[in-house]
Amino acid sequence: MRILFVTSEAFPLIKTGGLADVSGSLPAALQNIDVDVRILVPGYPAVLNKLINPRFLTTISNLPNVGAVNLVLGEMPETKVPVIAIESAGLYQRDGGPYVDATGKDWEDNPTRFGILSLVAAILSDDKSPLSDWVPDITHCNDWQTGLTPAFMHFMSARRTQMKQAKSVLSIHNLAFQGCYGPEWVGRLGLPAESYQINGVEYYGQLSFLKAGIFYADGLSTVSPSYAKEIQTEAYGFGMQGLLTSRGKEINGILNGLDTDEWNPATDPYLVEHYDANNLDGKKAVKAALQSNLGLKVEAKTPLLGVVSRLTHQKGLDMLLSSAETLINQHDCQLVVLGSGDKNMEQGYRDLAKRFPKQISVTIGYNEELSHQIMAGCDIFIMPSRFEPCGLNQMYGLRYGTPPVVNNTGGLADSVQDTNEINFKNNTATGFVMQNAEPKALISAIERALGYYQDEKAWKIIQENGMRQNLDWTKSASAYLAMYQGLLEK
Ligand code: ADP
Repeated sequence: MRILFVTSEAFPLIKTGGLADVSGSLPAALQNIDVDVRILVPGYPAVLNKLINPRFLTTISNLPNVGAVNLVLGEMPETKVPVIAIESAGLYQRDGGPYVDATGKDWEDNPTRFGILSLVAAILSDDKSPLSDWVPDITHCNDWQTGLTPAFMHFMSARRTQMKQAKSVLSIHNLAFQGCYGPEWVGRLGLPAESYQINGVEYYGQLSFLKAGIFYADGLSTVSPSYAKEIQTEAYGFGMQGLLTSRGKEINGILNGLDTDEWNPATDPYLVEHYDANNLDGKKAVKAALQSNLGLKVEAKTPLLGVVSRLTHQKGLDMLLSSAETLINQHDCQLVVLGSGDKNMEQGYRDLAKRFPKQISVTIGYNEELSHQIMAGCDIFIMPSRFEPCGLNQMYGLRYGTPPVVNNTGGLADSVQDTNEINFKNNTATGFVMQNAEPKALISAIERALGYYQDEKAWKIIQENGMRQNLDWTKSASAYLAMYQGLLEK
């Protein structure tokens, strides 16, 4: 089976969040079960620099707003999964992030940048493709940046009578980002005028990339079973619950796996010492190094709470910000925060660290190495998201013996087992689940965690329960394969 995996970011080439982790590791897991998979990604400078063995493949001409782009075929470092990068000086060769400029503002030409990504994917998805020796069976799109692919594919097949075309799948990694732009973009991107209607790409007076994908894709999935249900409700549907409910039975909720080579406390190159579920001693040295590097008091017994996250309302870190002072004043504990996002929240955390320099360390920015050290060096990981499609960090916490405190939603609810009496007795407790997304509930869950932390033996049991879980991609990759097979048999 051939899969074209279309994405706007893929680790280790380019990463802003969890989508990159999934786009790096799911294709590799599929390759391990003999699926012939290629990743299609924009050729940002970092992608073209890191690609192994890049070679020119073909040129695609007559594209709206850009004319021609080149396709370059290379490989992922380590996993060797083939990658097709779209090379275009005008679209992708610039400093800054994949979505925003250095000041954090969305690139104005994002509709073209991701419209072309979507269109190139569609062009590669049928027997008229310039890569006629490699036509996919499934074109697997991810999030709004690739949402127009199923729409383009639909209209390409409507224009021809005889054609072999891939089936399209759209995976929703976060429904909050919908790629909405003015209706003029319908024509500018070469979509037919008749696509702009409620049974099409129109969404409350705009063109929505994500809605287009949800409407036209042959198959739909999202990244956890709970989120698959939640997005069909008003509270979590971001206005798309009606359409999602109409396709409700078709939405596969498949929990993300982890790249267990990249995230492994027994081998992680960013750690001063290594450890595993059988011997956690090395974790103490990692904690001491983290405390020392960040200017915190080096205290083995003081519980160290950690955060690695986008600093946004979604992630609920405003709740931690408003609770941190109480926690620090009432309990002997420390806090490490790494993240960036909302400017007010960034400033709030900076101010907090200034007030408690020996107990709180805040690093604003993106730092892969420090993120691993926090996962390993902290005792408790904090992730109070208001909604969370899957979430990876809480699972990294499980794997690194850093039990997470999480809200009871989406993938957090699906991956963390609360430490209540029954779960503790059954050796299934892995973390601490808040009752609702309120500061009080967050404080109470953290206090429960701090209580267990005082009991060394009990704490070790919770740590080991999480560390012994199988969090790799094996099960989920098979679930994706089953979904692909189901679509091909339809
Ligand atoms: P989301 O994709 O919604 O941001 P996830 O938990 O699914 O959240 O994935 C976030 C990924 O991004 C994780 O791999 C996490 O370690 C990483 N990450 C987030 N913020 C930072 C940061 N400031 N520095 C380094 N890595 C980060």
